[in-house]
Amino acid sequence: MSERLILVTNDDGIQSEGIDLLATIASAFGRVVVIAPDRNRSAISSALSLHVPVRMNELGSDRYSCDGTPVDCVNLAFYNKLERKPDWVLSGINYGWNLGEDVFYSGTVAAAIEGCLLGARSAAFSLTTKGDLKNTKPFLTKFLEQWEKMPLPQQTIWNINFPQQKPIGVRLTGQDNRAYHDVVEQRNDPRGKPYYWIGGESAPTYSRQEGCDADAVLDQWISVTPLKLDLSHRDVMARQDEFKNLFG
Ligand code: MN
Repeated sequence: MSERLILVTNDDGIQSEGIDLLATIASAFGRVVVIAPDRNRSAISSALSLHVPVRMNELGSDRYSCDGTPVDCVNLAFYNKLERKPDWVLSGINYGWNLGEDVFYSGTVAAAIEGCLLGARSAAFSLTTKGDLKNTKPFLTKFLEQWEKMPLPQQTIWNINFPQQKPIGVRLTGQDNRAYHDVVEQRNDPRGKPYYWIGGESAPTYSRQEGCDADAVLDQWISVTPLKLDLSHRDVMARQDEFKNLFG
């Protein structure tokens, strides 16, 4: 069997310490190729650069930066840079949790989703901005040792979040709900014209449903969420009758 091929990417940019740690740990499991954005592209979701050229810079052996998005990086890896499809796509370690509906905005999670759509075993890893990367090491190593023995259904990725403090254990979790507050701030520029700052300093409030990701990390557990890419709601689909009279 040929050596395992592992793509490591992120959305914080290639200069992030989080991607260095993930690549270092992954290198014990195969050949690691790092392809990551040349700057912070957080909260860019699955954006794909369809109307602008994308360029890559070779920074070293198996190490590239790209002026596109995280999902661009994954596509360049699969369709250009790598001689074959990678076995694993690892995204992170992101500075900033990806809990609840954050997964819809996250470039970190999007890169893992793209890896899964293109046929690789994929996972996203995130740590709160106040967290210490070294606390992620023991679990990361064990998880990567074990995860091939824990196969997921098709179209599913692992979304992993680490607590702020040293973890007390691991929990398999669902996706929580969260609300952001005062998301848009209006200020005036030096010429007196308004501009808007989205995101700002606002911190989300989590509903902390039992068994969900936010509750786990806030209680100091590592949260491991299997995320389904099929968002359709099977229970609602049982209500076909309600739609009988809506046509014709
Ligand atoms: Mn990020």
